[in-house]
Amino acid sequence: MDKLVIPTPEFSLKLPISGETVKYRPFLVREEKLLLMLKEAKDNTMIIDNLKKIMQLCILDNTSVANISYADFEFLFLNMRVRSIGETIDLETECESCGKKTPCVIDLNQVTEEMEKSSVPDKTVMLTNEIGVIVKPLELRNASAISNLTEKDQLKIVAAFIDKIFTEKDVSSFTELSSDHQLAFIDSLSMKHISMIMERVSQFPRLKADIQYVCTHCQHNGNIQVEGLDNFFI
Ligand SMILES: [Zn+2]
Repeated sequence: MDKLVIPTPEFSLKLPISGETVKYRPFLVREEKLLLMLKEAKDNTMIIDNLKKIMQLCILDNTSVANISYADFEFLFLNMRVRSIGETIDLETECESCGKKTPCVIDLNQVTEEMEKSSVPDKTVMLTNEIGVIVKPLELRNASAISNLTEKDQLKIVAAFIDKIFTEKDVSSFTELSSDHQLAFIDSLSMKHISMIMERVSQFPRLKADIQYVCTHCQHNGNIQVEGLDNFFI
């Protein structure tokens, strides 16, 4: 008998933020094993680096996972997971009424559909009549650095979301400015400017789910909001 292998299915997916289409295959058993190992890991940088490697193996066109936004990365991961492992995640939550642990289920198709329905916001934020910024969603390369920053580092956080600065005459790419110029600009922002920028950034599509549960102890009908990749893992 000739060597026999199961053909791997291929899927196409439009990323909600970049609008680009990616061709991918589901995770195979060897990759699922790596994912299970990552599930136990605590170091965010290590988890994201390894997820990038695993996902790049599953991408069948020339899309580079390093160049997509963090939310597109999460969206692609979830779709790969749905195709390979299944459409639901069972987890436990603390009942908001009796405080005991009760099981609940995340429907991942519902999560990805919600994200597909949301649209990318207007990226232009006017800070004064003459000066404005173009914001960008969280980039994958900044994701682990940002997750390690705290409230105190708000200026560093805001810098990660500025794509361009413009005046009536001029547009500059923020990352191409010297660090002196970057710092001077960030230092000139008021709290109001920062919240205007962060408010717009928060409107970019991202993975979140509203989950209804019925407590197995007290029959309370509750709901929880789940967000972020750690909750949508395996
Ligand atoms: Zn309860």
